[in-house]
Amino acid sequence: MKLPGVPFYQANINNYTPGRTRPVRKLTIHHSAGWENTLRYLWADPNRNGSSHFWVGNQPNQIEQYVDTGDTAWTNNNWDSNCESITVETRGDWRGYYDKQTLNNLYTLMVKLLPTYPQLIVEYHMDVSRTFTLCPADLKHKGYAKAEWDKAVAAFNKPAPAPTPPKPVAINYRSITPKRVKLIRPANLWDFNFTEWAKAKAVQAYPAGHLVDVVAVAKNSLGGEYYMTAYSYNGGSVRATNGFNIKDCEDYVPAITQPPTVEQKWEPMANPRKMRLMVTSKITDLDTMKETGSDIQAGTDIDLVELKTIKPGVTYARSKWSMQNNKNWGILLNRFAEVPATAPEPTPEPPREPVPEPPLDVDPNTPSDSDLHGQVNWLVKAIKALLAYFKIKV
Ligand SMILES: [Zn+2]
Repeated sequence: MKLPGVPFYQANINNYTPGRTRPVRKLTIHHSAGWENTLRYLWADPNRNGSSHFWVGNQPNQIEQYVDTGDTAWTNNNWDSNCESITVETRGDWRGYYDKQTLNNLYTLMVKLLPTYPQLIVEYHMDVSRTFTLCPADLKHKGYAKAEWDKAVAAFNKPAPAPTPPKPVAINYRSITPKRVKLIRPANLWDFNFTEWAKAKAVQAYPAGHLVDVVAVAKNSLGGEYYMTAYSYNGGSVRATNGFNIKDCEDYVPAITQPPTVEQKWEPMANPRKMRLMVTSKITDLDTMKETGSDIQAGTDIDLVELKTIKPGVTYARSKWSMQNNKNWGILLNRFAEVPATAPEPTPEPPREPVPEPPLDVDPNTPSDSDLHGQVNWLVKAIKALLAYFKIKV
């Protein structure tokens, strides 16, 4: 495999073995113990008798490939090891060299290899060479290469991040048939753009009875619902997240407009007369419909001259005094009764005469109202007489 995105400079065919004789299992880390900027010329030399798959430098993304990973590079001074390894030379000096950018490039190479070679383990030249070498020095001894490897493996094993669930829409708006609502209690206009009740912000306080024309309802993530004005809602292009909690509102019902009342007038009584007040009452002032003045005792006879019916069945009577003094005063007519006519002289009781007792009922044939049996006997006798008349023998 030629690694995608990595420049490939083919090593001379004298410097590697085409193909593999066993599965690739390892990534062998080397350091190029000099200050080379590239190994492409070294491995292109047909007499070099060596090669590596990769080299990483100290410039951003400086990674080069010289041998296809499907071929066997000669890097490790150990044929068996070469057969199962991908090899990388890391720019550095005899110590192994610490350079952040170089290590970043080593990391990038590892990340690119792992998807194709997930079985790889990392090893170091000194551990496999058949001749003595300090390679790769601090890349092994100070753990620089291992640290990059561990990061690359962690990144490789990291499960793909779960798709971020769509954030719940914090506030839902719905337009409603425009209407007028009334605050049923003193209430705040709220900024309903909050996700914790404790963070609700009152914009302004309004008194009970305040009328608001509303066109939309906003529901925030806590489920609170708020009436919005046309101005705040602005046809769905919300201008202000302000509203009244719908629980503080009721639909406003305008008072039914009464037809203008025909002015009630005092009308003269057909038969003005003195009538007797039957219930202790006060005068009612018909301008205010409040009772006024002091009690007029039941039994008082009052000269009544006029009547005013203020609604069906409710008629007030006005006294002569009130009329003459132009007072719009009256007392309910149904509290009056006619003054009784002067009682006539008692007529003497007529002399009594004894009433005779009815005669005793001694008639055995005619039943009285106390005679059930007598009735039956009488009936039997009558039937017998009838039968006898027709000469029927029983
Ligand atoms: Zn080496």
